[in-house]
Amino acid sequence: MRPELPPGYHSPQFDADVRLNTNEFPEAPPERVYEELADAIVGIQLNRYPDRMATELRAALAEYHEVAAENVFCANGSNEVLQCLLLALGGPGKTAALFEPTYALHSHIARLTRTAIIEGERDADFLIDMDEFERLLSGTGGGTEPDLVFLCSPNNPTGRLEPESTVLEVLRRAQGIVVLDEAYAPFADTSAIALISEYPNLVVVRTFSKSWSLAGLRLGYAVSAGANVDALFRVALPYHLDALKQRAGVIALENEKAYDGRIDQINRERSRLSSELGALGVEVVPSDANFVLFHLLDHDAAETWRRLAEASVLVRDVSSWPRLAGYLRVTIGTRQENDAFLAALRGAL
Ligand SMILES: *Cc1c(COP(=O)(O)O)cnc(C)c1O
Repeated sequence: MRPELPPGYHSPQFDADVRLNTNEFPEAPPERVYEELADAIVGIQLNRYPDRMATELRAALAEYHEVAAENVFCANGSNEVLQCLLLALGGPGKTAALFEPTYALHSHIARLTRTAIIEGERDADFLIDMDEFERLLSGTGGGTEPDLVFLCSPNNPTGRLEPESTVLEVLRRAQGIVVLDEAYAPFADTSAIALISEYPNLVVVRTFSKSWSLAGLRLGYAVSAGANVDALFRVALPYHLDALKQRAGVIALENEKAYDGRIDQINRERSRLSSELGALGVEVVPSDANFVLFHLLDHDAAETWRRLAEASVLVRDVSSWPRLAGYLRVTIGTRQENDAFLAALRGAL
């Protein structure tokens, strides 16, 4: 019998003055990115199918990360990269290990592709404990190893950065593919991409949706050994990446300098918001990403979320997720947005 598919995954989209619920970058991309993209559109042959290999974009990403173009696979958001990974390497009879609480799409897409999930728990600090990893591996019985292990660092929704030693230990210990979701790595100024030459089982997944201010573009990519990139190309639909998007990605990368200071600004606001949250008597989880997870202690999370929404401030109610009863997650916005959130929370409490 086929297992039932889960319901679709949708972050609620509501109208609100202050939207701090989906970890987008609060500001539009730099003016120059818009200008160059507007100019570029005229030169794109829209009657022709796009370059199936996304040659220019992959070359630009390869240069950016100091790898070869053969090590790069691009797709419509990193979610599509994850879907391709699970289509290529997961599926019936295959298993994926992950540590809750983590990004819901990892288990969601695993279920959609009928990949069995082996669920581990993070420790009290929301970090991965190697004993728990061993328990997961032995708990699968009969020595079957997971075909895929999902890591996320900094992790969504906790914001915690996994120490490099953990990533290395998992890479050495795992027999299957290790998928490291680095959607928030630019905010922590760190990456495991340099490890791909040494670890052919490592797939690092990145996105333009957060630090590049381009969530609306839907562009993400994987960096990995050539054999894994080949496997991803085999399951991608023909011409899945449109010509405009390929060009837009190159333009963003070429204008990296215009993004200078943006991440520092978010990180400064994260420090400020974290200490102000602490002063309001909620418990803040230390974050290396562009959001903060906080525990409401003696206040009800769902009710607090509702009061914030009434004040036209949207945050993410994660209180029904595994291990997160009593928690909400707030994206770092502009200074004004963060102030509006803090004022609304003060009112709500
Ligand atoms: C936001 C986010 C993404 C981004 O997904 P896209 O499809 O690239 O927009 C990927 N992984 C994690 C953990 C995220 O939080």
